[in-house]
Amino acid sequence: MHGSEALFGVVSIIITISGILAIFIPFWVFRIRNEIIKTNQLLAQLIELNGGINPDHYIIDSSAKPTKQCPKCGKANKKTDSTCIYCGTNLRNTL
Ligand SMILES: [Zn+2]
Repeated sequence: MHGSEALFGVVSIIITISGILAIFIPFWVFRIRNEIIKTNQLLAQLIELNGGINPDHYIIDSSAKPTKQCPKCGKANKKTDSTCIYCGTNLRNTL
């Protein structure tokens, strides 16, 4: 019977500690909530300073592509190339 008393004592201590810690859970949640709000405000400020979220920024402009397509073979060439490196077609008039 001595063993069960010791087990009871250990379980009582664990439950007591858990109960004391449980009292502080709302404070932890509140603190984490406030920190998330503060971080989001800072992030929004940084996005605003960086020019804001502009959906047009993410649309890739085809005229800004670093390559141009060969009209004959359809392969990509460097924008600065005057002839296709694959088939030799003149690309001077190709965009
Ligand atoms: Zn070509």
